[in-house]
Amino acid sequence: MRSYTLIAPAKINLYLEIIGDRPDGFHELAMILQSIDLADQIGVRSLSTDTIRVHSQHTQVPTDKTNLAYRAAELMVKEFPDTFAKYGGVEITIDKHIPVAAGLAGGSTNAAAVLVGIDLLWNLGLTQTELEELGAVLGSDVPFCIAGGTVIATGRGEQLSPLPSLDNIYIVLAKYRSLEVSTAWAYKTYRQQYGNTYIKDTADLVARANAVHSGAIVKAIANKDVTDIAQKLHNDLERVVLPEYPQVLQLRELFAAQEGVIGTMMSGSGPSVFALVESQPQAEIIKQKIRAAIPDEDLELFVTRTTSHGIKIASSV
Ligand code: ATP
Repeated sequence: MRSYTLIAPAKINLYLEIIGDRPDGFHELAMILQSIDLADQIGVRSLSTDTIRVHSQHTQVPTDKTNLAYRAAELMVKEFPDTFAKYGGVEITIDKHIPVAAGLAGGSTNAAAVLVGIDLLWNLGLTQTELEELGAVLGSDVPFCIAGGTVIATGRGEQLSPLPSLDNIYIVLAKYRSLEVSTAWAYKTYRQQYGNTYIKDTADLVARANAVHSGAIVKAIANKDVTDIAQKLHNDLERVVLPEYPQVLQLRELFAAQEGVIGTMMSGSGPSVFALVESQPQAEIIKQKIRAAIPDEDLELFVTRTTSHGIKIASSV
């Protein structure tokens, strides 16, 4: 096999709590991450030259070294130089469907797909844990994207514990194409506005992050009680993003006012906003109503649903 096509799903945050600033300069987070079936398709193919090439049809996706998928390939070359010498370079094709810079881990899931794809291309036989460890070098959301599903993520987001899977909950997702929120800005502003959250004692931070394991939303997920889950959605970053971005606030309020929406929240550092709804027909109706209320071409709207998988092989040649 010299070429693979992989499905790389996006994620939403059902829960995001900023526990505090860690002594190493990162934030200690407690999150619940959920894969959705809105996905990119990633092609990986061996090249006879020793280069890494990235192509994408999407104008907002960089094709140079700033692309996280490129960096994933570069990491594999660095980690496995002998295998690289044997198999040659890699061509990566990104068929982008996930909105870019949306808080949906688009770049991270592309990088995860490249790790999985090169593992297959080069017959490395890496375990999920090994792939997740490589992913953690690239970014906090990459390890989750490997296996996906419904997961508690603590630490910087890279410490994962799986939860019972939540399949087929319908979601309407909205994002203004040209609106970007810097993740670094969101966290910095949160820190400035909500005081000094620096806690010296790492053990205390970790204990507080781990408290999410016995939290109300985890119980709701264990019971597969969608209404209860929807009522317990939470994202600390809304406190800084919503006041600064009226368009995001408007989407939140519009979703909340729709019949059939059982819960709505911003994902990650935004600006995408999602709503959990009872059924697919309702999701389609809600999408149409939002479109009618905001007839702006810049607003992208999707009907999607939760899924229990991360990176998946679509085809191999
Ligand atoms: P996260 O939820 O992990 O914070 P995100 O969904 O907010 O990520 P991305 O879609 O990954 O954000 O895009 C953030 C920026 O990263 C973009 O502005 C883009 O320039 C750059 N980028 C690098 N690699 C990719 C990629 N493979 N796909 C999309 N954007 C990428």
